[in-house]
Amino acid sequence: MLTKLLSRETCAKCRLCCIFDHYDVWETPVLSQNIKETAEKILPDAEFISKGTRSYLFRIREFDEDDLFRCPLLDPQKGCMLGTEKPFDCQIWPFRIMELDGRQAITIAPICDAMMAQPIGTLLSFLKEGLADTIFDYAAENPDVVKPYDSMYPVLLWKDKNF
Ligand code: SF4
Repeated sequence: MLTKLLSRETCAKCRLCCIFDHYDVWETPVLSQNIKETAEKILPDAEFISKGTRSYLFRIREFDEDDLFRCPLLDPQKGCMLGTEKPFDCQIWPFRIMELDGRQAITIAPICDAMMAQPIGTLLSFLKEGLADTIFDYAAENPDVVKPYDSMYPVLLWKDKNF
């Protein structure tokens, strides 16, 4: 979804968005029922917990020796085992949809150096070309992807504000 701004090569070299520490473990991807079922076929031993009304997260039993949790679907050599059928959270990362005082906003995860290096105008133009509508529409249908606002994440666009 973001290949116009973020090349597959850049992501392949980084994969920071698939590895979580104690601070950002809440960022693990929200899995729809379909994606959970696919993940169960790939990873028969994976465990899940419910998220919201009809979504799931990987159950985290422990962090690794580096004190990190690596998404179980991350293959160290090949990348995401889901290929192009990634969870919505992963498709739009580092954009996030968050809620503050009942209002939704699209924010950006500050740890993505490649996207943070883009001029803000470029990010906003990209969102306004259609991705913002896609995100807000998806969140309306799938509210489990909406995260509580985190002040570390700069707000780019509020919902229902005139573009
Ligand atoms: S589902 Fe794939 S893209 Fe998403 S965090 Fe896991 S490995 Fe990364």
